[in-house]
Amino acid sequence: MSTRLDELAARVSAARADAAARGETFYPGPSRIHLAAFPPKQRWDDWVELESTDWPRRTERHYMLVPTTCFNCESACGLLAYVDRETWQVRKFEGNPEHPGSRGRNCAKGPATINQVTDPDRILQPLKRAGARGSGRWEPVGWDAALDDIAGRIRAAIVDGRANEVMYHVGRPGEDGFTERVLASWGVDGHNSHTNVCSSGARAGYHFWTGIDRPSPDHAGAEVILLISSHLEAGHYFNPHAQRIMDAKQAGAKLIVMDTRLSNTATHADFWLSPYPGSEPAILLAIAAHLVRTGRYDREFVRRWWNWAEYLAAERPEAPRTFEAFEAAFGELYASYTFAFAAAESGVPERTIAQVAETVAAAGTRLSTHTWRSAAAGNLGGWQVARTLFLLNALLGAVATPGGTYPNAWNKFVPRPIHTPPHPPSWNELTWPLEYPLALNELSFLLPHFLKEGRGTLDVYFTRVYNPVWTNPDGLSWMEVLTDERLVGLHVALTPTWSETAFLADYVLPMGLGPERHDLHSYEQYDGQWVAFRQPVLRAARERAGAQVTDTRQVNPGQVWEENEFWIELSWRIDPDGSLGIRRYHESRAHPGQKLTVDEYYGWIFEHSVPGLPAAAAAQGLTPLAYMRRYGSFEIRAGVGAVHEEPVPDSDLDDAATDGFGRVYTRAPAAASPNVVPVGTPEPDAAGRRPVGVVVDGVVRRGFPTPSGRLEFYSRTLAAWGWREEAVPGYQRSHVHPTALDADQMVLISTFRLPTQIHTRGGNAKWLDELAHTNPLWLHPTDAARIGVGTGDLVRVETEIGAFVVKAWVTEGIRPGVVACSHHMGRWKLREQGQQGQRQVMATVDLTRRDDQWRMTRLAGVAPYASGDPDTARIWWTDVGVHQNLTFPVHPDPISGQHCWHQAVRVTRAAPGQAYGEITVDTAKAHEVYQKWLGLARRAETHSPDGTRRPYWLMRPLKPARDAYRLPETAPDERAD
Ligand code: SF4
Repeated sequence: MSTRLDELAARVSAARADAAARGETFYPGPSRIHLAAFPPKQRWDDWVELESTDWPRRTERHYMLVPTTCFNCESACGLLAYVDRETWQVRKFEGNPEHPGSRGRNCAKGPATINQVTDPDRILQPLKRAGARGSGRWEPVGWDAALDDIAGRIRAAIVDGRANEVMYHVGRPGEDGFTERVLASWGVDGHNSHTNVCSSGARAGYHFWTGIDRPSPDHAGAEVILLISSHLEAGHYFNPHAQRIMDAKQAGAKLIVMDTRLSNTATHADFWLSPYPGSEPAILLAIAAHLVRTGRYDREFVRRWWNWAEYLAAERPEAPRTFEAFEAAFGELYASYTFAFAAAESGVPERTIAQVAETVAAAGTRLSTHTWRSAAAGNLGGWQVARTLFLLNALLGAVATPGGTYPNAWNKFVPRPIHTPPHPPSWNELTWPLEYPLALNELSFLLPHFLKEGRGTLDVYFTRVYNPVWTNPDGLSWMEVLTDERLVGLHVALTPTWSETAFLADYVLPMGLGPERHDLHSYEQYDGQWVAFRQPVLRAARERAGAQVTDTRQVNPGQVWEENEFWIELSWRIDPDGSLGIRRYHESRAHPGQKLTVDEYYGWIFEHSVPGLPAAAAAQGLTPLAYMRRYGSFEIRAGVGAVHEEPVPDSDLDDAATDGFGRVYTRAPAAASPNVVPVGTPEPDAAGRRPVGVVVDGVVRRGFPTPSGRLEFYSRTLAAWGWREEAVPGYQRSHVHPTALDADQMVLISTFRLPTQIHTRGGNAKWLDELAHTNPLWLHPTDAARIGVGTGDLVRVETEIGAFVVKAWVTEGIRPGVVACSHHMGRWKLREQGQQGQRQVMATVDLTRRDDQWRMTRLAGVAPYASGDPDTARIWWTDVGVHQNLTFPVHPDPISGQHCWHQAVRVTRAAPGQAYGEITVDTAKAHEVYQKWLGLARRAETHSPDGTRRPYWLMRPLKPARDAYRLPETAPDERAD
């Protein structure tokens, strides 16, 4: 053994000396062995590897290594494209060691990008519908003709005062704010996102606490990591967080995982808690109450940073305004949250909860916590999961501390763009309806019901890397409106791949994958700030080799385009002479009157908006743009620290005024803070001064972007807008609480995914499909015995509006009484679509409709087929899973707007004749369920305290002008106090 180690050590030393002799940095690589190392960046122009398929011949292949970022989840990990210098094609993708977030590592989906690029079924040219929508008949169309048609309709809508009929609905966003600014330049409040079927619940919980809608846990520095759900394998910022969680574990940190399912992450945990779905806040509040009861919390932090004085003033006006009085009030408020109560609600043993509480208490300021979708996206009131989880950080003072949890905006960098168009003047009630004034994001999944109710129509509807028919609940209601040309005049699908939704488009426009487009990213993955550059790698390679590329279509496959060039071109065609005031936001600064190019757009940002980048580039004799094209990422700063503690300089305190709780307002103009990304925009005071800080023990500090400037244990916003009972962290029983279920019902969890799948775009990633291609129903052995099924048997799952037939998987990895089914499977195409579609993962189905009654039956699974890729003839699986989301009605949470995914279901053995993949749905019932949940909402007209539609300080991805926030004319006496 020692001989082998000695040999390796000698090789490392030799390699180190070799690198030093060449003046290069030595990269020992993750295994500490040079042969496993990343290619040193000095050799990225000509990296040599042996051709694996030629072995034992030693044929050398020369590569140019070009960085980009992965597009297969939001993490934006760095990738290096290996561009063959002979063919100028990409051979493979590996990690980019220069990327500060991912540090050269990727999950399986990163390298699988090459499958997507070479997918024989991908869309390579613009297509126009040649028959009825959904008929499967298409004809090629030129980009010019498509652009002119779409631009003409948008122009007409804007000129005719129908701007609200233009909507852009995004699934996976590429770049922070680019398309929002495009819409703003058109004066259109038309942004729609997928966020309310994804993360709005968690965002709301964080936003009401901190004014910022995401956490940034410093997992690597933590002593205790508390995760709600499966962050090691599929959670938010998956790979960048997972590797840091493992770093912490290796250093001795304890891992606590709360997940009803035995996820891969749970298998790594010191404590795995499998709570009854929706009971998570009860456990978290019991832990919080324990911390306070035993005095194991950071009293000074709570005294200095919580808005406890506001709470006392609003809810305990009779109590003295002292911290001691608040401590007493807190104890009373949560006295009922005992371990016994939490155990009764969750089914987790009292003893285990007590052990976890002790473990959390011992973490002190090194407690990192995270929740994103999972429970926060599953339950009525799920947003309180995030609020009660962050309560633990707020009690321990584990906020913006090493090993604690930061507000994300401090660990994220959003650069200033070259042009900033004004806020649109109008308000679109199809996305921001009056029923949901506090929703964190657009009520996107209610759109079919709004259209059916006659709340409006759409003239031009873009779906962009979004597949609502498949991804959203209630997909057949989507199908009903997308096939109705009176409701949706023109549907443009911007997509790299076929999808259930693209089949229903009028234009299908092929958009670039991660290595075929530009985007700029920065995400909170540790206590630091970085930017990374997604770029069309063949364009960058050609340019590095001396060629000139003026349009990304010159290098992309087929006629695939990138979106930034597309949006600039489309905007010019909407306003060809500039008379609408749109074109100027898409013009060159350097050459007024000429079209903005992506080189100028990004070159300007890198030159003017990214601190430190120009100097780092100059040190290598590069322009900032050339630096980013070569290395793909740049770390702006590490160790940002506790921004809220920063004293506000006197220069920012011109004509300052302070409210009764210490919030400080100023007339000094806002200077761009190098640290803080604005998310919430707290209201000015009555005299129009802007909030600038908060007085803490006599010093004006930056604080948090909340109305009070402090951490808001008590949300005056929630109280003022009709939700006083939800104004502090709390627990409300979920819509799937046992008391809400019939005796024969179970809970279905559908909010998890397999770590090797990518929503729609992963469809034809062949390596990933081979790894995972079905979604059986997780069923506990006791339930399986009761139902009389074993693994592989068919079961029928009945929801409120329909049913689906799926295979059972009997496992002890799920609670009795709960079933689970991954949502990343069950893709389908109609027989009419023929050879179109993602043939490696889409079943062929028959779909019939009689009035509101729909039935889907499976005609065939997948099969081997001939294509340019010989691997498609080697497909050995037929099963592609079942599309359960079709059978889910919408469940909008009345506060956060999040769709509450968990379902109350009846699971029975499938009867003879009920075949695998069979789905039935009643869309009339779906509309009834929608109306029932709508009844939970508290409308702005009756609950707005100030005549506005929504608190101005709450985030909105695209904020309209302030005037648009005014409610439509309403008599004052129609509003509640
Ligand atoms: S975690 Fe995986 S899918 Fe997500 S960006 Fe990183 S490599 Fe890509």
